[in-house]
Parts: sequence; structure tokens; C-alpha cells
Amino acid sequence: MGSDLPPRTRHLPPGPQLAVHAAHEHNSRGRRHPEAPPNYRSEFQRDRDRIIHSTGFRRLEYKTQVFVNHEGDLFRTRLTHSLEVAQIARSVARVMGLNEDLTEAIALAHDLGHTPFGHAGQDALNDCMRDYGGFEHNIQSLRVVDELETRYAEFPGLNLTFETREGILKHCSQKNARQLGDVGERFLIDHQPSLEAQLNNLADEIAYNNHDVDDGVRAGLIGIEQLRGVKLFAEHYEPVMRRHPNLSERQIVHEVIRRMINHLVVDLIETSRNRIAAAAPADIEGVRRQPEPLMSFSPQVQADNLELKRFLRQHLYRHYRVHRMSVKARRLIGSLFHAYMDDIGLLPHEYQEIVRQREAEGGVERRARVVADYIAGMTDRYAIGEHARLFDPATLS
Ligand code: MG
Repeated sequence: MGSDLPPRTRHLPPGPQLAVHAAHEHNSRGRRHPEAPPNYRSEFQRDRDRIIHSTGFRRLEYKTQVFVNHEGDLFRTRLTHSLEVAQIARSVARVMGLNEDLTEAIALAHDLGHTPFGHAGQDALNDCMRDYGGFEHNIQSLRVVDELETRYAEFPGLNLTFETREGILKHCSQKNARQLGDVGERFLIDHQPSLEAQLNNLADEIAYNNHDVDDGVRAGLIGIEQLRGVKLFAEHYEPVMRRHPNLSERQIVHEVIRRMINHLVVDLIETSRNRIAAAAPADIEGVRRQPEPLMSFSPQVQADNLELKRFLRQHLYRHYRVHRMSVKARRLIGSLFHAYMDDIGLLPHEYQEIVRQREAEGGVERRARVVADYIAGMTDRYAIGEHARLFDPATLS
């Protein structure tokens, strides 16, 4: 690791054999603030552990993607989603000789920067921040681990390795990439991230497409008959019904979803293996220099996946009941933002102090960034409560 601290004997748990193209800690690009290596753990295990103990991680329990938290206890939250992504990604990493610890760290951190109310919240905050540099949840996830967690004595943020930070920053505009230093560079020179990062992007997709089908049916917004018009679903529905004609709706949905996930995971492993064998990168740097990601679904599965995504967009994300919630969420985020911007005295004392410091350094743009950080950190229910405290005359404290 890029550390000038004296070497010492380390005891590491016996790990699985890693492929040459996997992320290895011995050629890691290191941490922003040099630290002695951990004993009994790998560097990437330490990253994962810091993420699990962070405040941002606990907030994921009360943040949602499609359904607001109070709509029901059984819907996915960002926390359960992150665990599902970690489960899928780790299974693939292990069988492909990729670094499972790094894979898990990225999966657990990938949604830390999400606002309350999922995409509606993110769009609203991006609108509010239009004149102040915009708001992207991927960059916000990086801000959480680099700056906003203030728990350690010797550095800001969690001081994670470059590889975990690289994986967290899934997408990024060119304009923002120029301001992000080392982790932004690949977007400017058209390089790829590690295979572990690439894997997480696809595991994320597998997890949310499938759990949105499950949650959508549970909420009564989409039905099995409609889903039978989607190839990926139909392909697995028919054999389930032939074999088990008397299942309940819950069982049917679950049996089809577990087959769909398996189908996607197997295709991902087999396609990616072939692509890696053909490109034969000598190490992680060889992976980064590839013109395209090496982790990939086959063209057929990509097309089937796209069909499922389109179905979900049309029938679930644009369903009037989801749309109503989104409109309400946007309004709520917008009113919080403007209220704080007009009167920073509405913020807790410690945030007022931060606003004063930042504004003295960089003007109103910095004030807006602190307000955006504050709102992005809220859980769904905190944001709802805060809105009532600021705007409902009957709620005075
Ligand atoms: Mg995700």
C-alpha cells in the first residue's frame, strides 16, 4: 500500500486463490491518508468493516428506492438492497477468483449517497442544485466515505482504499470527473474500473430488477398476467407452472424470481469468463486499459434484461400511485432545500457553523452544498418529520 509507515509482520486469514486480473492488495493504489496495514484482516476487509460501522450505512435502513418506507414493512429498503447486491456479487466473485472482500465493500457502500425517496429525491435535489454544481448520487456516495463521515481522529471520512472508492463512483460526468482527482481520471481517459467494480454494477442491476418485480407484485401495482408478456419472466414461469400447478401467487413469484436471478448470474459468469480469457489482462492495470468492461451479460440476456427494465419503467415506476408519491417527494425535498437556503437559522447549530465556514471560503455555492449534504443524509421518515416541523403549524418542535 502507498504508505511510508514501517513494515511489520502481518497475520492474514488464509484467503482464496485470486486470479491475476483480480484486485490484489499488494498492487492497490492505496489510501489517501497513509495508515499501517491492519493485522488479521486484508485492506479490503478493513474497508468493508469501516463501511458497516458508518452512520451512512445505518441510514440505508430507512431509505427507499421505489416505495416509501411507511408503505409496508416488507418492501426492500436500500439496506436490504445493498445486502442483496453483496450476496449476488460475492457469489460471482468467489467462483471467478475475484477479490470477494473488495466486492463486498463496494456493494455495501454503493448506495450510501442516495437521498431520501429514491430517484424522485435525487431528481429534486439535482434540480435545486442546478445553479450550484448539481447533485449526482454516485458522487455523493464518494463524498460520504471521503468527507462526510466524521468519526476518525486522524483523517476525514473513512479513508478507504482507491479500489473501493473507484468502485463506488459508478458513473460521473466529465465536468465532475475533472474535479475528482485520481478516481475521476478513468472517465477522462476512457479506462475501465476493476473487475470487482464492474461486477457490482451488474449485480446491482440483477438485484433491483428482480426485487422491483417482487415488490411491485406485492404492492398490487403489477400482476403475473402482465409479467407473462416479458420474455425473461415467461421463460421461467412456464416450467414452474408445469412442475407445480397449485402454487400461491407468492410462491409463483418467488420461484420465478429465483430462476431469473440464477439465469442472469450464470450468464454473467460464463460470458465474463470468455471475455476475460480472450482479452487475457495480465493484471488489474490490464483490466483498466480495456476499451470495454470485461464483465458482461451475453447480447441475448442484455436484450432480455432491457425488455424487463422497459416493462418496469412503464408499468411500475410510472404507475400513478408511484408517480403521486414521487411528485410529493419532489415537492417536499424542494421546500426543505429552499427553506434552509433562505434561512440557515433553521439548520441545527453544527450545520449553521459549517455553512458559515464554507460560505466564507466559497460563497453561496458552498452554502448550497452543505444544505444538499444535509438533505441527502436524511432518511425518508426524517425528511417527512422535518417537513412537518418546518411547515405544519400544528407541529411545533
Ligand atoms: Mg443500487
